[in-house]
Amino acid sequence: MEAVDVLAVGAHPDDVEMSCGGTLIKLVREGWRVAIVDCTRGEFGSRGTVEGRAREAAEAAAIIGAVARENLALPDGSITVTPEAVEALVRLFRHYRPRIVLFPPPFERHPDHEQVHQLVRRAFFHSGLAKLQTRGPDGQLQQPYRPRLLFCYMQAYEFQPSFYVDISDVYEQKVRAVQAHASQVYVPGVSPENEPETVLSRPEFWELLELRARYFGSRIGVRYAEAFLALTPLGVPTLGVWLQQRD
Ligand SMILES: [Zn+2]
Repeated sequence: MEAVDVLAVGAHPDDVEMSCGGTLIKLVREGWRVAIVDCTRGEFGSRGTVEGRAREAAEAAAIIGAVARENLALPDGSITVTPEAVEALVRLFRHYRPRIVLFPPPFERHPDHEQVHQLVRRAFFHSGLAKLQTRGPDGQLQQPYRPRLLFCYMQAYEFQPSFYVDISDVYEQKVRAVQAHASQVYVPGVSPENEPETVLSRPEFWELLELRARYFGSRIGVRYAEAFLALTPLGVPTLGVWLQQRD
C-alpha cells in the first residue's frame, strides 16, 4: 500500500517547492507521508532540458522527503482539462489516497496553473464516483476514493489566505529544495550562464522568495510562513487549539 497523507500537485516541476515546500518538509518531519505530482516536464520553459529538470525534481523530492514524485507528462504551456488527463489524476488519487491535496489557486498568472486547478477539482470529484472504473499500476481495479481537504497554495497572484503555516524552522531546507532546480533559479557557480534570463534566474529571486515568506510570517507572528486558500470549509474541535499556542 502506497497511501500518503498529503499529495501536492503542481503544473511545473518546481512549482510545489516554491509555493508549499516548507509546509511539506514540516509534514515529513512530523512523520506524515507526502507525495508530489508534477503535471508537465517543463519542456516549454525558457531554461533547462527535460532530462535535467527531471533530475532536479528528483533531488528536490529527496530534500523534501517525499515518498514519491510522479509526472503526468501533459503538454507544458498548453495544459487542458481533457478526460484523459482527469482520469490520469483520478488514478493517482485512488492509488495514493491522500487526505489533503495541495494545488494551484483558481486565479493565476500562468494559464497552466489555472488549468491544473480545474484538473484537480474535476479529478477530486470523479475519483469518488463508483461507476468510474480505473485500474492501478498493478492492473487491478481501483476503489473509489475522494480526498477530504482541498487547499490552494499561493503562486504569482495574491489571494486573501484562509490560513498560514509556520515554516520558520524549515525555511533553510525549503531554500535547498528550490536550489535543486538550478537550471531555473539563480545558484552561483551551478546555474548555466548562457541561457535566457527569467524572473527566477536573477539573484533578486531569492530576496523576493524570502520577503514573501517573511511577510506571511509577520501576519501570524512568526519568522517565515506559507499561505493557503481553503476550498473545503474548516472547523476546529475547540478554541483550545489556539489557546495551546504561546504568544
Ligand atoms: Zn508553474
